[in-house]
Amino acid sequence: MTIQQAVKVMPDAQTVTEVKHWSDTLFSFRVTRPASLRFRSGEFVMIGLLKDDGKPLLRAYSIASPSWDETLEFYSIKVPDGPLTSKLQKISVGDQVIVRPKPVGTLVTDALLPGKRLWLLATGTGLAPFASLIRDPDIYERYEQVILTHTCRTVEELAYGQELVEHLPEDPLVGEEVAAKLHYYPTATQEEFVNKGRITDLMRSGELYQALGTGPLNPAEDRVMICGSMGLNLDVKEILEEAGFKEGSNSSPADFVLEKAFVG
Ligand SMILES: Cc1cc2nc3c(=O)[nH]c(=O)nc-3n(C[C@H](O)[C@H](O)[C@H](O)COP(=O)(O)OP(=O)(O)OC[C@H]3O[C@@H](n4cnc5c(N)ncnc54)[C@H](O)[C@@H]3O)c2cc1C
Repeated sequence: MTIQQAVKVMPDAQTVTEVKHWSDTLFSFRVTRPASLRFRSGEFVMIGLLKDDGKPLLRAYSIASPSWDETLEFYSIKVPDGPLTSKLQKISVGDQVIVRPKPVGTLVTDALLPGKRLWLLATGTGLAPFASLIRDPDIYERYEQVILTHTCRTVEELAYGQELVEHLPEDPLVGEEVAAKLHYYPTATQEEFVNKGRITDLMRSGELYQALGTGPLNPAEDRVMICGSMGLNLDVKEILEEAGFKEGSNSSPADFVLEKAFVG
């Protein structure tokens, strides 16, 4: 074997520029952006690392940064013994990560019909695509109000979203629009917090709408994006379909769209 054959080549390699650990189970990081990558805010790509045998180990990741950003941000779980994240959580600045420049996904404004209010309903790392969308001027041009809900088990798990939203009004590009139009509603299910409970329970009881001063969800005005566990997605879909909402897609825009935050 020649020296060249022995060196493992990482295809689509990008360099890590920033890493932040939010808790024992969550971290975010930034990498350089592939020159060929064009994406719509809300889409996901395949990212990963090389395995010991030199083959790539890839997983789907929502891009958490907006489409105009020069670098790419990702927000990640740390799964104990997870094939990718047990290694990915150890990356540091200067390391390389594979980013396949082929974005896809349904959590894009193109998959929704025009409306008055955009609801972004996330649990856990399902916040990532919405972290991208709330930094994109496009959604503030399209909607009069943007409501982001984020539900986690503990208050600590809300930290990434809380910090992002807290600083967004200072953003030179979207700050003014954010201050006027973005409403943030974080909830914790297993700890005492200002808002407590599952988002589906808060929707069914009407507590969510009362707190935000909106009426119940109405397909004539509201558009909804959902990103969470399979259970959450199905429960919200049921609530929306009962209220007359139709599911949209890239080829057939409608009233709501959903995507799994993870498989399993
Ligand atoms: C469309 C799509 C977008 C995704 N975007 C993201 C993202 O932005 N950030 C992110 O961290 N993950 C995201 N995921 C999940 C991601 O692809 C991996 O599953 C995750 O990185 C764990 O990889 P792993 O190899 O360590 O473990 P895996 O073998 O992939 O997963 C092991 C188990 O861990 C649990 N799990 C995996 N991911 C999560 C998660 N995010 N939250 C809670 N439990 C989880 C599941 O029970 C799963 O069966 C996305 C998945 C899909 C399908």
